[in-house]
Amino acid sequence: MTESNRENKLIDLKGMLPTEIIDLVKKMGEVDYRADQILDWIYKKGAVEVAEMTNLPKVFRESLSKVVEISHLRQIKVSASQSGEAVKFVFEVNNGRRIESVLIADGTRRTVCLSSQIGCPLDCKFCATGRMGLLGNLTPGEIIDQLMQVVRYAKGRGDRVTNVVLMGMGEPLLNYDAVFRAISLMCCDAGLGLGGRKVTLSTAGYVPGIIKLAKSSLNIGLAVSLNGTTNEIRDSIMPINRRFKIEDLISAAKLFHAKRGYGVTFEYVLIEGITDGIENAKRLGDLIAGVPCKINLIPYNEFDLDKDFRRPSQIRLANFYETLKMSGIGFSVRESRGRDIDAACGQLIQKN
Ligand code: SAH
Repeated sequence: MTESNRENKLIDLKGMLPTEIIDLVKKMGEVDYRADQILDWIYKKGAVEVAEMTNLPKVFRESLSKVVEISHLRQIKVSASQSGEAVKFVFEVNNGRRIESVLIADGTRRTVCLSSQIGCPLDCKFCATGRMGLLGNLTPGEIIDQLMQVVRYAKGRGDRVTNVVLMGMGEPLLNYDAVFRAISLMCCDAGLGLGGRKVTLSTAGYVPGIIKLAKSSLNIGLAVSLNGTTNEIRDSIMPINRRFKIEDLISAAKLFHAKRGYGVTFEYVLIEGITDGIENAKRLGDLIAGVPCKINLIPYNEFDLDKDFRRPSQIRLANFYETLKMSGIGFSVRESRGRDIDAACGQLIQKN
C-alpha cells in the first residue's frame, strides 16, 4: 500500500485483477465492459489518471476518481552503461523512498530486472541491497509500474522487452501476495500479455515461498540463489541458511520440478577464496546430481561499501568452469552488464 492510499484509503487500480475491477464497476452500478475499457486505458494506453479515460461516462469517471488511484512511480534518474547494454532506472515510491530497475540487452533479448521490496531484510553479506535493511514492501502497482515505465523507455529506442526477472532489490517471496498479483497482471492478456515462461523470480532460498509458488497457478521460471556448497559456507554469507538449509533447498527444488514439470535454475555467485575453489565445483556437481535444474554462475560484482569480498581472477574462474565441465555439469555464466553504473547483480542500493 502506498502512503497516499494509506491516508486516503484509495484503491490502486494498477494492482487490481480483472475480476476485481469487474466487481468494482458492477458495485458502482456500471456494466461489465467498463472494466475492459479501464484495463485497456491502464495497460495498453498507459493512463495514469481516471480523467484520461474519455470513453467512460463523465459521471462514472467522477465517482471512480473518488475511490481509486493509479500508481505511477516518479522517475528520478536514468543512466546507461558505457556499452549501452544496461540502463538503470531510479524511481521514487509514494513514501519518498527509492528503488531501482534495470533494462539489460543481451543479443536479441531485452530483459527488465524489477525490485520487489525497498531494500531487503535478508542481509546476504555479498549484496549491496542487504546493507539497506528492509524499508518496506512494494505494492503490486509499484512492481508493475516499474515494468511499464521501462517498456515505454525501450519502445522509445525501438526495442521490445522480451523477458522479466524479479532479481532487483528485495526478496520477492517475502512479499508474496504483491508479487503474485503483479506477475498475474504482467502475464494476462488484459494486462501486459507477457508469457509466463518469460518471467523468472529469484529467491535467496525462502523455502515456504518456493513450496507455495510450486503449488500455485503461476507458470513462471524460478531461480534459487545457492551460492554455497556446504551449510557452513552458506551460513557465513547468507543468514537465511540458518533457517532453511541446503538440504531443504534441494528438496524444494525437486518439489518444484515435480509440480511444474520444469526445473529451477540454481544461481551460484563466485567469490574469491569463499565459493570459487575447485572443491566447491566438485561439491556443486554432487549436490545437484539427480536434481533436474540448470546452473547459472555469476562472478562476484564488487561494490563500494564492500571490503570483504573479491571477484575471482580469470584463472580461478576458468579452473572452476573446467572442474564443473569435467563432472559433466552443464552451466551458463552470467556476464553481469552495467557494472560501471552499479546496475549489476548485487549492486543495487539507494540511500533512502
Ligand atoms: N533476493 C533474491 C533476488 C535478488 S539478488 C535472491 O537472492 O535471489 C539476484 C542475484 O544476484 C542472486 O542470485 C544473488 O545471489 C546475486 N548477487 C547478489 N549480490 C551479488 C554480487 N555482489 N555479485 C554477484 N551476484 C550477486
